[in-house]
Amino acid sequence: MKQMDGVCVRDCTRCDALVASRSQIVNGVGPADADLLFVGEGPGATEDEQGAPFVGRSGSVLDEALAEAGVGRDAVRITNCVRCRPPDNRDPHADELDNCRDFLEHEIDVVDPTILVTLGKVPSEHLLDRSVAITNESGTVVDHRLGGRSRRVLLSMHPAATLYDRSQREGFFATIASAVELAGLNDAGRGDGGAASEKSGGQSRLGEF
Ligand code: SF4
Repeated sequence: MKQMDGVCVRDCTRCDALVASRSQIVNGVGPADADLLFVGEGPGATEDEQGAPFVGRSGSVLDEALAEAGVGRDAVRITNCVRCRPPDNRDPHADELDNCRDFLEHEIDVVDPTILVTLGKVPSEHLLDRSVAITNESGTVVDHRLGGRSRRVLLSMHPAATLYDRSQREGFFATIASAVELAGLNDAGRGDGGAASEKSGGQSRLGEF
C-alpha cells in the first residue's frame, strides 16, 4: 500500500478537515505481532501533540486497567479508526472513517491479533458495521468478518466513561482483564480461552455492567 510503511501511514491527505486540524498523523503503537489489539476512535489533543494513541487521561485509565490485569502497555498494540485529530474533538465523520478504513484493516491483517478490542461506541459501530449500544454491549465477544477473515472482537466502553462516571470503572477494568485472558497474556487465559463462555451465534457475555 503506497501510503503505508509497514503498519504506519505516511503523508496521507485524504481527509481535508483532518489534515487541516492535525499536527501529525498518529499511528498505532506496540508490537506489530501483538496478541491483543485495541482500536479507539481517533487522536485527541494530547495524542495529536505527542504522536501516540491513548496517552492522555483516557490512556492513563487504560494503562491502569492493563497493569491491574498484569500486563504492561508495551505488550499490546493500540491504534485508532482515524489517525488524524478531528477539529474540536468532534467524532470522525463517516467519510473520514471510510477514508482511513483500509489502513486500519491492513494493520489488523499484519498484527493478526488473537483478540481485537474496540474502545467505545464509534470503533465498535465502525468495525461491526451496525449500531451498538455500548453501555449494554460492553464485555460482549463477537466473531466478525474483517478484511476477508473472521476476527474475535471484544466490545468495550471507552476508558473516558470511567472519568465521567466512576461507577463504570469496575466494569471497564473487568472487560480489560477479560481481554488479557482471551489474548492468552496471563496464566489465567492460557488453556481455556479466558473467562468468556461461548454462546450460540458466536456471542458471549463477560458479566453485566
Ligand atoms: S484520518 Fe486517515 S485517511 Fe484521513 S487524512 Fe488522516 S491518515 Fe489519511
